[in-house]
Amino acid sequence: MSQAEKIDPFDVALEQLRITAELLQLDSGIYEILKQPRRSLTVSIPVQMDDGTVTAFTGHRVQYNDARGPCKGGIRYHPGVTLGEVKALAAWMTWKCAVMDIPFGGGKGGVVCDPKNMSIREKEKMTRKYASLLHDFIGPYRDVPAPDVYTDPQTMAWIADTYSQRVGHMVPEVITGKPLSIGGSEGRSTSTARGCVFCIREAAELLRIPMKGASVVVQGFGNAGANAALIISEMGAKVVAASDSRGAVYSNEGINAQELVNHKAQTGSVVGFKGSKEISDEELLGLDCEILIPAALENVITAKNASNIKAKIISEAANGPTTPEADKILVEKKALLIPDILANAGGVMVSYLEWVQNLQKEHWTETNVNERLEDNMVASFKEVWTTSKNNDVSMRNAALMVGVGRVAEAIKTLGLWP
Ligand code: GLU
Repeated sequence: MSQAEKIDPFDVALEQLRITAELLQLDSGIYEILKQPRRSLTVSIPVQMDDGTVTAFTGHRVQYNDARGPCKGGIRYHPGVTLGEVKALAAWMTWKCAVMDIPFGGGKGGVVCDPKNMSIREKEKMTRKYASLLHDFIGPYRDVPAPDVYTDPQTMAWIADTYSQRVGHMVPEVITGKPLSIGGSEGRSTSTARGCVFCIREAAELLRIPMKGASVVVQGFGNAGANAALIISEMGAKVVAASDSRGAVYSNEGINAQELVNHKAQTGSVVGFKGSKEISDEELLGLDCEILIPAALENVITAKNASNIKAKIISEAANGPTTPEADKILVEKKALLIPDILANAGGVMVSYLEWVQNLQKEHWTETNVNERLEDNMVASFKEVWTTSKNNDVSMRNAALMVGVGRVAEAIKTLGLWP
């Protein structure tokens, strides 16, 4: 979908930064620094495929800013990956970690590939080669990767192993989102979704929308979207529609989230779920519902479709799903949009807890992790809400003011050397 719109996500990130610089009356030198990533690395990753031929995949890793701590952010495997996209995602990670007030800067990685059409063996080879090429670029105090679209705990395990073999001992703290058996954190796999649902719950309370019976539309039924559907259903809300890259399904009666997860596990898609009606992606976005969760890729809610959206709360589990033009339309419609750098920050929040556990050689219980996640999400939500009210700006602009403001303060305090 991001490809169809042909909007460079980095242009979106820069436009958001421009608006924020104006709101904060940011020092022009700091604005200049924040317009570019600190470092970008592009590598060619040759892999011998199962049929014997060699494919050279292009991979990127961008370290946007590290004034507040080591760069932090996921690695994405997708045919649509571009350097512009990775730069945007790395900028958003920088603001996101600052909104959560965790001691990380922002980074992101991506490999241009089609993981759905690769064997496990091909994916392992590509991952290990990519990790090896990144070896001197990443590190527990330099840049700590994590999962993103179409990468998972197994991918993280291959990277941890490749990195550690060169160091000579296991270094679990070089990466987060690992399997539990090698130092992963309890609660990490559901954390993005859980954090997103905590934000929705807080917003619903402020808008006096009861969670019980609230209708929910989930655009993108991957890790974040599917878990959000499960968690929000546990709170009594009613999932009425969901989509993935193959299509969208709808049922006015409500969709059992667990059964939909099982259906997708068996068939590879939400399409064909029993008792549901197939609808188009555009119909899905325009459904009459209380809550819309965009949980797929960038540039899904645009100037073309934003005016059709009827949801009262939009919570961005994905990064960059809404363009700046669409933002304006949603503000006019008085929809409450919880922006990505807050709504999906639960993932990196628990990544931070994983990193801390690894450094301290500890393993915390799921209850402990989820409680810390909830406390931090609620605190950040409240801070952004208050900033939004005090400055009479949207939640997006308020979150950017908090995030960019903290990064700017760190840069100012460190000073320019020499
Ligand atoms: N990929 C996730 C994000 O966009 C998680 C990043 C992390 O845990 O470092 O926030």
